[in-house]
Amino acid sequence: MTEDKPGAKGPKSDDEGGGKAPATNFIKDIINEDIRNNKNNGQVITRFPPEPNGYLHIGHAKSICLNFGLAREYAGRCHLRFDDTNPEKEEMEYIESIMEDVKWLGFDWGKHLYYASDYFEQLYEWAVKLIRDGRAYVCDLSAEEMRQYRGTLTRPGKESPYRNRPVDENLDLFKRMRDGEFPDGSRTLRAKIDMASGNINLRDPAMYRIMRAEHPRLGKTWCIYPTYDFTHGQSDSIENITHSICTLEFEIHRPLYDWFVEQLGIHHPQQIEFARLNLTYTVMSKRKLLQLVKENHVSGWDDPRMPTISGLRRRGYTPASIRDFADRIGVAKADSTVDIGYLEHCIREDLNRKAPRIMAVLNPLKVVITNYPEGKIENLKAENNPEDPSMGQREVPFSRELFIEQDDFMEVPAKKFFRLYPGGEVRLKYAYIIKCEEAVKDAGGNVIELRCTYDPATKSGESTVERKVKGTLHWVSAVRPAMCEVRLYEHLFTRENPDDTEEGKDFLDYFNNDSLKVLPSCPVEEGILSARPGDKFQFLRHGYFCVDPDTVPGKPILNRTVSLKDSWAKIQKAHQ
Ligand code: ATP
Ligand code: MG
Repeated sequence: MTEDKPGAKGPKSDDEGGGKAPATNFIKDIINEDIRNNKNNGQVITRFPPEPNGYLHIGHAKSICLNFGLAREYAGRCHLRFDDTNPEKEEMEYIESIMEDVKWLGFDWGKHLYYASDYFEQLYEWAVKLIRDGRAYVCDLSAEEMRQYRGTLTRPGKESPYRNRPVDENLDLFKRMRDGEFPDGSRTLRAKIDMASGNINLRDPAMYRIMRAEHPRLGKTWCIYPTYDFTHGQSDSIENITHSICTLEFEIHRPLYDWFVEQLGIHHPQQIEFARLNLTYTVMSKRKLLQLVKENHVSGWDDPRMPTISGLRRRGYTPASIRDFADRIGVAKADSTVDIGYLEHCIREDLNRKAPRIMAVLNPLKVVITNYPEGKIENLKAENNPEDPSMGQREVPFSRELFIEQDDFMEVPAKKFFRLYPGGEVRLKYAYIIKCEEAVKDAGGNVIELRCTYDPATKSGESTVERKVKGTLHWVSAVRPAMCEVRLYEHLFTRENPDDTEEGKDFLDYFNNDSLKVLPSCPVEEGILSARPGDKFQFLRHGYFCVDPDTVPGKPILNRTVSLKDSWAKIQKAHQ
């Protein structure tokens, strides 16, 4: 199923706002109501709270655009806060990449950069307060025992034998937990709530665990760490967050977050849940993305096939196209999956306006124009972008020898094949009409060269005769081509929903082994040689391409961002 989309909107300019009124949604309805009631003095303070245990993906981008977008729209602010409560899985590399990605998307947290680990001392004091108030206790059950005691959805939990420890004993044990007197995992601090609650999150959840892990920022300062559940809501509270926006799986945690801030008597942010983004033909779980990286199924977090922001950037996606996508899919309360073709549609729209056109031949077939003088080079005029004349023109060298695509020739033409065949004529883009006189073959019978003639009276824009041909081909002169490595990509998985596995299978069983195709040496117009990593082009008839960061002078590497065929637009049209 595809998520409901607001009706088609006009193109948006590169920068924020784009002049169009932002669409409304249920979150804005809540905020508007709060402002009407002067709740929080009419302020809007949101946050994006990643856990630094992986790189950000397109789902996070949705959350970033939403949180920073609301702050911008309501003249409030949005914090970037690292929820770094699980040192075993967290790394500085992730913290740095997250900051880079948020900035790249076009958002700025200003001075509001925070870490949950900044609050560890405060959280510890609050834990002590809850112990004093008889609301928390030190429990000696093992992790396995705790699981058994917890009960199930249909069976109430059982109270821990340590539940009624005297306050003083709890205070003493908790302090000694902090001081490192007990082995990892031997004790926890638990909230004393209700083992019979219908909500399992309220069955005396863990607040602290003993874990001798080096924290990426604090090193070995602590050997006990607060759980995410004991950290998240209080961190929001400390930062005076007004609207704490998160994904649906936290709905069931909300009563616990509410319980903590109420027991502590501190600011109560309002949590609002929305549906997370899922995309077809990819996975979005950080655990699975990490596995793809660790097991070398992909070249890294920024492999252009990955749904990560760094992967999309390397692939050639622009920040504007991702923001536009996030805007268009909107926010909803029900889980759904968005067609990856919709994301591709957004980048096509953006690059169609921005990317200069250039000619590249991916599977070259040599053409010799026998009546064109040897050694002669003509510089022909070519428009850089028919969508935007202000992007000007360039010169393309034309010569006796050049390359066309192998696919653009058929020895025995199929029906309606309007490209080149023996005796047939086509126009070479920006140049002349040529006629195929002969196909030269190697010993194995493969066509290796075409001998053609050109008609000098048919020069593009200066034609002195009325001649029409049906096919127009792109080409590259053999005189000074830039030889480039071109990388073509397909979906990362062969199954629309790789998380929904058939019996006995794993998501990796649906890994698309043909998702990367490398063409080591493709002739491209020489202008590409001055392109820099990140520069984007439309290769005529082949799609949009972006210069890879591994490019070295003289040997450009180009990643195909997306082909020109817009399957999403087609599907939408069919449904209209
Ligand atoms: P983890 O399992 O490691 O917690 P996570 O994807 O939830 O993975 P976080 O770093 O906790 O990662 O996410 C940061 C923020 O991004 C959270 O507010 C989360 O709700 C939001 N988020 C994560 N995945 C998506 C998604 N697919 N769509 C929308 N928002 C998302
Ligand atoms: Mg999370």
